Amino acid sequence: MLKFRFVIILNIIFLVINCSCNKDLEEIIETVVVAEEENSTPIVIPQDNNRVPDEIEFSLNGINGFGVEDMDLEVATWLNFKQSSITHTWDDSNSNQMEVALPIYDEYNLKTTLFSLPNKIKNWDLYRNAHINGHEIASHSFNHLNFDHLTSDIVEQELKKSRDEINSKMDFSHCLTFAYPYCSSDEFGLTNKYYIAARSRKNSIQSNNPSDFFDLGGVLCGETTNYYTEDQLNNLAEKSIENNGWAIYLFHNVDINGGFSISSEVLKNHLSYLNENSNMYWVDTFVNVVKYIKEREAVTVSVKNQTSNSIDISISDNLDDNIYNHPITVKKKLPEKVVASELKVQQSNVQLEYAIATIGSTKFIIFNAIPDNGIVTISF
Ligand SMILES: [Zn+2]
Repeated sequence: MLKFRFVIILNIIFLVINCSCNKDLEEIIETVVVAEEENSTPIVIPQDNNRVPDEIEFSLNGINGFGVEDMDLEVATWLNFKQSSITHTWDDSNSNQMEVALPIYDEYNLKTTLFSLPNKIKNWDLYRNAHINGHEIASHSFNHLNFDHLTSDIVEQELKKSRDEINSKMDFSHCLTFAYPYCSSDEFGLTNKYYIAARSRKNSIQSNNPSDFFDLGGVLCGETTNYYTEDQLNNLAEKSIENNGWAIYLFHNVDINGGFSISSEVLKNHLSYLNENSNMYWVDTFVNVVKYIKEREAVTVSVKNQTSNSIDISISDNLDDNIYNHPITVKKKLPEKVVASELKVQQSNVQLEYAIATIGSTKFIIFNAIPDNGIVTISF
């Protein structure tokens, strides 16, 4: 039986969100190069690796979703009751993203999102491998045109053609999110025909419960922006803790002059910081965070049956289960007499890992389960 240690830490952090916008900064794009034809190879989709950590640090600042309230059933704001979410996104399919940036992410086992231009990709094997390693391959349009100056027909072509081309070249159907070229917008409301969410640019922390999934604000990083040094990049992550928000970083290049580049050394040190502080930050791809939020907001969690030695919990939503299959973190109060070491948690005959939290004299169990994937049974 797995045993988990639980730590409750008083952790009140006062930070001020810097909402300054740099609307005048224009995105730089290299000439779009027509890609060479590549043979597609079958892709094995990796298993989700969303295990409950051995140790969860609860904040006691009383903000929603952090498990301090004596609630019978609760869904965490962020996976594993982390205090905020962090997503790194990379635009424009610049070659140094694959050659320089990705190996650094892989070194720390952190995942990132590549908003890609299929017309510019020369080696799709690198992208297929990145997907197998858990990174997200998403779309940044086909020809990188400014949507603010296009007809609805052209906008729709750019949305659909890029998605279809990426799915075809990747040999999958997982191109689910989009980033507007030049951080423009889709005034025709066509993006939701082809994607489940899109990144814009607001240069501020995104709230944990967005009103518009097609206007999720990224923060422009790199030279000539406010987020260029290691300290500045770390500080942006710290800002996301206030209001338990979501910091969406927008990168372009590593180790080149111009093009909002950052140095690989700065990136490495920043990822090291995120890794060292993984008790606070949930670092994951854009699509996984979108899935989690939509599931968290749509899900109904209820006790279906309770006996002297088991509790059955239903976790269901009305979302498309082919897409919305990310585990969400659930916390359930346990009867007083339960012995933590004798617990077992199962969903559809799959044994789930769990953690135990004790707040005062009350015990809670915490586990990650996929909505609509069967009843969760806690046996004791
Ligand atoms: Zn771009």
